[in-house]
Amino acid sequence: MARTSRIPGFFKLPVSERRRVVAEATHLAAHEFDACDARGLDVATSDKTVENVLGVYALPFAATLNVQINGHDVVAPMVIEEPSVVAAASNAARIARIGGGFTAEADPAIVAAQIQLLDVEDTGSALERIREASSEILALADAAIPGLIARGGGARSLDIRVLGAPSDHMMVVDVFIDCRDAMGANLVNSVAEAIGDELAVLARGRIGFRILSNLCDRRKVRVSCRVPFEALATEEMSGADVARGMEDGSRFAELDAYRACTHNKGIMNGVDAVVIATGNDWRAVEAGAHAYAARNGRYEPLATWRREGEHLVGRLEMPLALGIVGGTLRVHPTAKLALKMTGAKTAVELAVLAATVGLASNLAALRALASDGIQRGHMGLHARSVAVAAGASGDNVEKVAARIIELGDITVDAARKVLSELRASEPSAAAVAE
Ligand code: NAD
Repeated sequence: MARTSRIPGFFKLPVSERRRVVAEATHLAAHEFDACDARGLDVATSDKTVENVLGVYALPFAATLNVQINGHDVVAPMVIEEPSVVAAASNAARIARIGGGFTAEADPAIVAAQIQLLDVEDTGSALERIREASSEILALADAAIPGLIARGGGARSLDIRVLGAPSDHMMVVDVFIDCRDAMGANLVNSVAEAIGDELAVLARGRIGFRILSNLCDRRKVRVSCRVPFEALATEEMSGADVARGMEDGSRFAELDAYRACTHNKGIMNGVDAVVIATGNDWRAVEAGAHAYAARNGRYEPLATWRREGEHLVGRLEMPLALGIVGGTLRVHPTAKLALKMTGAKTAVELAVLAATVGLASNLAALRALASDGIQRGHMGLHARSVAVAAGASGDNVEKVAARIIELGDITVDAARKVLSELRASEPSAAAVAE
């Protein structure tokens, strides 16, 4: 929990001052933020982390402000290369705050180990035998993960399914494991491998794949917010009209997979940025999110919006397997710092934060689409990276960005032209020396 996540004027501060302010707000020492400069992860550590290493690839590390979850302030760490996502999420969190912030809760950290069984002649009797031996199977699973058992986790239940037609002779046993504060992939894979042979004997079949499922739909997060109409108003539109447009946009996503895909991309802008910042496996999160979005046989939005009285209510539900121990967190100094910034003491708290930033990102995108359009805010912030791409540096970045926004031509060509005009009008180094 942060002292506060509401820090007006934060974006105008220099980076060093932002670090100091966030350190104070999140109860950290200022020097801990040294972990988020370019030296965050060194080449030697990288070389021990993956294979064939050439170096380190850096991305911007930022903070989303104004987030309030269940009455508590949180500063959300974000790692993302796309301009405007952090600003939009911070702005949306400020709007949600007017309605009391976000309300969120999450399931326990249950992940399934899947054991595929092949060449099962009589799937019906195999199912019966495995069901009768359930307690022994769960005990065998627990024996493979003593560390997790000591922390209160372990195998909770199992499910047996026959797959395909009788002629496929295929079954799967899903063993549900409480991974506590770990993401759980390696833990669950260990279980799958430990119990596979016993299951094959019981099924009188052949063992197949043994691995976790990333569709962890027993490990879901639910987040909601109630935004008063007036908090959604823009210079040109009333809050009630914006709210109506946002509901129309939500229904569009509910009825059309092409829209739902982009709607969910906007949610994942926020979710992934927190997931990456905290050293978690975003491919696993992405796979789980989109499989869940398609669970009813067609691709659907992860969050929906409805007007209720004088409020617009947003609700998000998605699976989210995040860890606050293990994985990349063992080695990555910036990921460790990011986790400390969140103040999360459990994996559930971290999952709730990531999903909340996802709903904030969705709020921002829908509000922009229902009012000014997405390009106005986005391109304004994009202008700075366009200026850098055109060769601007130092003070010239803001000057070039401001000018191309004014011209309404946010392109590298326009930025180059403005930059050369600026340089031509600047006094030469010799003139300055005089
Ligand atoms: P891990 O292998 O680091 O295991 C977690 C460790 O933390 C365990 O040894 C556990 O005993 C220990 N631990 C300490 N305190 C704990 C606590 N409070 N709660 C739970 N465990 C605690 O990590 P993991 O979470 O098993 O696996 C995550 C890694 O696996 C990620 O790096 C991921 O990228 C990778 N992975 C993913 C997939 C996939 O998603 N399909 C497949 C394979 C590997």
